[in-house]
Amino acid sequence: MQPRRAIIISKLFHFCRQALSAKEHIDAHSATVGTLDEPVIIPRSEHGISRSQFSPNALKVLYRLKDGGFEAYLVGGCVRDLLLGLQPKDFDVVTNATPEQVKKLFRNCRLIGRRFRLAHIVFGREIIEVATMRGHHEAQDSKNNVSQSSEHGQLLRDNVYGTIDEDAERRDFTINALYYSIKDFCIYDYANGVAAIKGRRIELIGDPETRYREDPVRMLRAIRFATKLDMSISSATAKPITELADLLAHIPPARLFEECLKLFLGGKAEANFHALRQYGLFKYLFPALDKLLDANPGGQEERFIAQMFANTDVRINGDKKVTPAFIFAALLWFPLLERCQLLMQRDQLPHFEALAAAMNQILSENAQHVAVPKRFTLGARDIWHIQHRFDKRGGQRAYCLSQQPRFKAAYDFMLLLVDSGQEDLKELADWWSAYLNADVNGQKMMVKALGGNNRPRRRRRSGGSRNRNKPKGESQ
Ligand code: ATP
Ligand code: MG
Repeated sequence: MQPRRAIIISKLFHFCRQALSAKEHIDAHSATVGTLDEPVIIPRSEHGISRSQFSPNALKVLYRLKDGGFEAYLVGGCVRDLLLGLQPKDFDVVTNATPEQVKKLFRNCRLIGRRFRLAHIVFGREIIEVATMRGHHEAQDSKNNVSQSSEHGQLLRDNVYGTIDEDAERRDFTINALYYSIKDFCIYDYANGVAAIKGRRIELIGDPETRYREDPVRMLRAIRFATKLDMSISSATAKPITELADLLAHIPPARLFEECLKLFLGGKAEANFHALRQYGLFKYLFPALDKLLDANPGGQEERFIAQMFANTDVRINGDKKVTPAFIFAALLWFPLLERCQLLMQRDQLPHFEALAAAMNQILSENAQHVAVPKRFTLGARDIWHIQHRFDKRGGQRAYCLSQQPRFKAAYDFMLLLVDSGQEDLKELADWWSAYLNADVNGQKMMVKALGGNNRPRRRRRSGGSRNRNKPKGESQ
């Protein structure tokens, strides 16, 4: 639907001065959000965004929709990020075509999602997500237009289609309700998002409590956008978070895993960690660790996790690879040690068995909150196992260990433990650092110098050994 009355503001970055200061603008706006159906329209000459900044595939999608007789806009994060001078992570398109109509226009289209039915247009590794404009979820008129809420007010399905101004009201934050039209190249700002960008404020559209109840993940998103964009969460948007944090318990663990990746792999993991703790949200992601952090404020657990996230940020911002296995291994390390101790003391299990049982228990308990896929939990297990093998260095053991695929990650993990204050590991970590820097002869000398204590125990085997032909020590 075209806006009833368009307000064209001549200078994008002067418009607050012409009307209200950014703060007054935001305050005035927060009194009227939810009824805003007259967008601020920023013409092409004023917003500084050009089509050359878009992904060529996103442009193809926009033009195909337009030529098919539909409305088509870039929306959300990509418009916001381009206005902020940032490189968008992805390009999302919104249209008045239904998912089925979109599918007819693109051979490379697949329809996904139950909760939100969406079209994915696939161009090799790039996917352009095309959403149909959402309407008010109270309006359920046909069997295709479905919305459904849980007893907590959470939207379980939101497939009621609507107009662009209704779609804007359904979006989460004011800075995310900006639409770039392929028809006239203007930006349509439905919720005073440009003023919020200028005021560097994260503010929900509509009543914050209702919006968090509809989708509690918005609490995590508020934090993520605040740290990513270096903005602050407005007081009305921040206030209900602590009280409503427990709504996260109703979110499927697979979705929380996806959110964790966004929180921890976006280059702002350390800031997100502190903010999640501050708002009482961390507890619903990693309850066992949260308890340990509460019990020992400023202690080794906290230093270890903060340092791990700080290192992760440095790697991400330096375009280096980060494996989620390392992050989850670290997040569950102290709960694992605690459980292992318990099983040894209470159930009198030997260390090796207690460790194996503790790994299974901690991983399956964690999966009730954050469903970490097996490919990462396997990696975390390897990193944990290797921690318990670092001191067994005699014969060929040091060499064999250093050849394990996860050795480097496990070694970094040990250094992190030392850095966060685990003094008793320092000597061992220094030995390994020197070993890794030494040449083959140097390494042999180092192992020899360890003396009798580190000599591998000979195993008595009955019958033939599978390792009969291997060099001494390699069978361990
Ligand atoms: P980024 O991609 O940089 O993480 P984004 O704002 O593009 O940020 P997406 O998750 O890609 O975030 O979502 C695209 C847009 O969809 C958002 O900008 C917002 O308008 C809307 N959106 C996403 N998730 C929600 C939600 N939970 N509630 C309401 N609107 C949402
Ligand atoms: Mg996006």
